[in-house]
Amino acid sequence: MARSEQRVAVVTGAARGIGAATAVRLAAEGRAVAVLDLDEAACAGTVERVRAGGGTAFAVGADVSDTEAVTAAVARVADALGPPVVLVNNAGVLRDNLLFRMTDSDWDTVLGVHLRGAFLMARACQKHMVDAGFGRIVNLSSSSALGNRGQANYSAAKAGLQGFTKTLAIELGKFGITANAVAPGFIATDMTASTAARVGVGFDDFQAAAADRIPVRRVGRPEDVANAVAFFTGEDAGFVSGQVLYVAGGPLD
Ligand code: NAP
Repeated sequence: MARSEQRVAVVTGAARGIGAATAVRLAAEGRAVAVLDLDEAACAGTVERVRAGGGTAFAVGADVSDTEAVTAAVARVADALGPPVVLVNNAGVLRDNLLFRMTDSDWDTVLGVHLRGAFLMARACQKHMVDAGFGRIVNLSSSSALGNRGQANYSAAKAGLQGFTKTLAIELGKFGITANAVAPGFIATDMTASTAARVGVGFDDFQAAAADRIPVRRVGRPEDVANAVAFFTGEDAGFVSGQVLYVAGGPLD
């Protein structure tokens, strides 16, 4: 795709982990990519990786759960790169706790970033997509949507994202916009490293134990998820919408 024809993608939580791999992958697919994260300076590494591969990237700092910050960030992206017509809602946090210990703040923070954040970003970007007659929205769900001990907040948010995705697919389809969800299982990132640290297990041992339970006998890499996102955001994926794809190395219940 020629530079002047590049369609613009926004990837949230793209300073590291799955978001960074996705930004790099979408740039390789020919997208100009807005690398959005809480701390703009933290996006520099991903921007550098994209540019090193010959791609176009732009760093944007914003808290996806903050309406004004999201409005301003999407406007900055449109000014700097052009209308954002591909959106990957990837920003995420964990505040794991058993229900009886889960605080109001644990609940609100997780629902705020994952669910409210995806809503705010989708609402801000959809106008650009409708005007373009083209759009691709991918929301990061999780195998935890099916239920996971210690994650009442996170599993509610990730299951909520699946319903949100299907509703966007129904509402926005007539404008050439698709919405799909990618639901990873265990992916080796700082997020799973933090879980290992919280339960007092070395990250290598934690990954080995997870790999034993996964049919393909390895944990996932950020690139495994980026690959699925790239399919859903492709120009030729316009007849696939409202789907949830588990990227987990095997089937889930
Ligand atoms: P990660 O390494 O922890 O990266 C998440 C990124 O999101 C961080 O850069 C973080 O910034 C950013 N972020 C957090 N709150 C934000 C906010 N309010 N606004 C903007 N950015 C924010 O996580 P990951 O493992 O790559 O996960 C990416 C997504 O995949 C998440 O939605 C996660 O729930 C989902 N997922 C991950 C796994 C897995 O096994 N890793 C499995 C299933 C689903 P800071 O560094 O500043 O906090």
